[in-house]
Amino acid sequence: MLAAVLHDFNDLRLEDVPMPTPAPDEVVVKIKACGFCATDYKAIKGIRKNVSFPCIVGHEPSGVVSAVGKYVKHVKEGDEVVVMPSGSCGYCKYCRQGKMHYCKQSFTTGGDGPEDVRPGAFAEYMKTAASSIFPKPSNVSFEAAAITEPLSGAWKGVIQYSEMEIGDDVVIIGVGSIGLLCMMVAKAAGAGRLIAIDASDYALRNAKSLGATHIINPRKEDARKRVYDIIPDGPDLIVEAAGPIQAVQLMVDLRRRGTKWNVFGITTHEKFELDGGLTHFLEGRMDASFGTTPLAMSKALRLMETGLVNPEKVISHRIALRDIHKAVEIMGTPERNKIVIIP
Ligand SMILES: [Zn+2]
Ligand SMILES: [Zn+2]
Repeated sequence: MLAAVLHDFNDLRLEDVPMPTPAPDEVVVKIKACGFCATDYKAIKGIRKNVSFPCIVGHEPSGVVSAVGKYVKHVKEGDEVVVMPSGSCGYCKYCRQGKMHYCKQSFTTGGDGPEDVRPGAFAEYMKTAASSIFPKPSNVSFEAAAITEPLSGAWKGVIQYSEMEIGDDVVIIGVGSIGLLCMMVAKAAGAGRLIAIDASDYALRNAKSLGATHIINPRKEDARKRVYDIIPDGPDLIVEAAGPIQAVQLMVDLRRRGTKWNVFGITTHEKFELDGGLTHFLEGRMDASFGTTPLAMSKALRLMETGLVNPEKVISHRIALRDIHKAVEIMGTPERNKIVIIP
């Protein structure tokens, strides 16, 4: 089968590799679409270093079951499915709390986080644990279904952890594809004023067309002043979905009493300042969210099935697997949203 194999940083090769065969509790999926995540780009470019070679990245796949192991009962050949990019032991304290993303025995297929990294989905086929497979609703396209995992992360951050309520005034800092998904989830959950902040006018135009009530470019205007002009009482919830430390600091500066805030985008180890006494009197509530869980995956599938969120709207490019190098190039340009690879 054809696969994009990463042999070293900046050494991605299209190769013919052996077809995966399932262990008794595994499933092989013929990939129909796979989202291209920033994590994959960082591995290819050497921006993150925790990669062992050779490897196949790509961890946001949807497809059709092509083979199942002999103990697998809940899916069969021909089923249309979504693959959660991780699996866990099911036995430890965290797994039993539903926090599978904390599991120390977890593995990932093509993603980042666990030490056990298995081949991912920038390939024609992949295999994974049967418990990491979710049925794809028939009215959801394979391309939309390839965005289940990032959408599930957005649901987990905005709804499950930060407990956004209907009517809440929400600020999203950073509206690249993951920030847009957070915004669409907030919109679907009945956000009041929904303010998008981003340094890119391209991103802000997308946010506006997907439901932001207001857009702010902090390079052109004082973001705090604009937010408080729009919402004099300040935001109920702020989601940092940007990454740079300046975005986290802006989130801190935007708080008022009782604001909830979610450290969602930053993954680098940089420091930001908090005034202890002020934080005390603001009674702010800080949450953070990373990764996904089976519950979040199921919720994302329901959001798509019912039409509450259509993640196809964040896809800017559909690129064939054999043109993966073109996709890598586009990942490095500013005017793009979600790229989906089609094997
Ligand atoms: Zn991802
Ligand atoms: Zn576990």
